[in-house]
Amino acid sequence: FANQIKTDELSFTRGKTNKDKANRATVENVLDPRTMRFLQALTSRGVISDFNGCISTGKEANVYHAFAGYKQNQKKDKTGEEESPAPDSVENNAEEEEAPEERDEYAIKIYKTSILVFKDRERYVDGEFRFRKSRSQHNPRKMIKIWAEKEYRNLRRIYQSGVIPVPKPIEIKNNVLVMEFLNRGNGFASPRLRDYPYKDREEISYFYYNMIADIRLLYQICRLVHADLSEYNTIVHNGELYFIDVSQSVQPEHPMSLDFLRMDIKNVNLYFAKMGIDIFPERLIFQFTIS
Ligand code: ATP
Ligand code: MN
Repeated sequence: FANQIKTDELSFTRGKTNKDKANRATVENVLDPRTMRFLQALTSRGVISDFNGCISTGKEANVYHAFAGYKQNQKKDKTGEEESPAPDSVENNAEEEEAPEERDEYAIKIYKTSILVFKDRERYVDGEFRFRKSRSQHNPRKMIKIWAEKEYRNLRRIYQSGVIPVPKPIEIKNNVLVMEFLNRGNGFASPRLRDYPYKDREEISYFYYNMIADIRLLYQICRLVHADLSEYNTIVHNGELYFIDVSQSVQPEHPMSLDFLRMDIKNVNLYFAKMGIDIFPERLIFQFTIS
């Protein structure tokens, strides 16, 4: 199965990489035998096929590209569309989904099972009644599973709300999360806000207002605070802002939710101020939490 990972195909990679080094590190830290078995299971169940190159290597997870497996394609053949799409959020993909021969593309986020990086996670999971404290918090593997599940459930909650664009969640299998791949064609990922080439000043303002509106909708409709929001965890896709990386997102009931929210607003304001936009004062934006 390891042979299927074509590290030569680096078209999905953001920048230049040292292939050998990346490959070795990847296999050692992320694609351990257990993870390979989960990928194998997803493949034989027809969820994914053609596990391709790496989109991103991060501290906590690597993101890979894959195509939808036969199960997903069968479903589309039969019904002409995907199962129970949320009414609003699939609108943008309408054209793509009408082309019958086009296979869906997936982003596969694989959480690293190494102990080193996950210490900090506890403060996001503690205080969440959705993930009640258990013995699993002392077992790194189980902890990573909980963490990946948390991202999947947050993603699903936001997706189903239909008010904020996020990649469609497809499957979760232990530390392997399968979601819609946000692409701009030819296998390239849509850019993060950080890398987006703005057309003009108006477009910067447009994204700023959208970002502020989305923070509010996320809180008031989805009942979540992103808690790691920035120009790095936002993708511009089909002219819209998509939130990604929601593993650490918490409910308003979390004892630190308002601190996380203030941090999100601060990050966003800092970025857009740097882009030369007149920003709203932090405390003014923050007011929606008490209204
Ligand atoms: P990092 O430590 O680099 O922040 P991470 O573990 O936080 O990584 P994410 O932020 O979820 O992981 O994803 C890392 C990168 O992978 C994103 O910045 C984005 O470029 C790409 N990416 C993630 N999900 C998708 C997706 N659904 N479609 C396209 N690209 C994606
Ligand atoms: Mn990230």
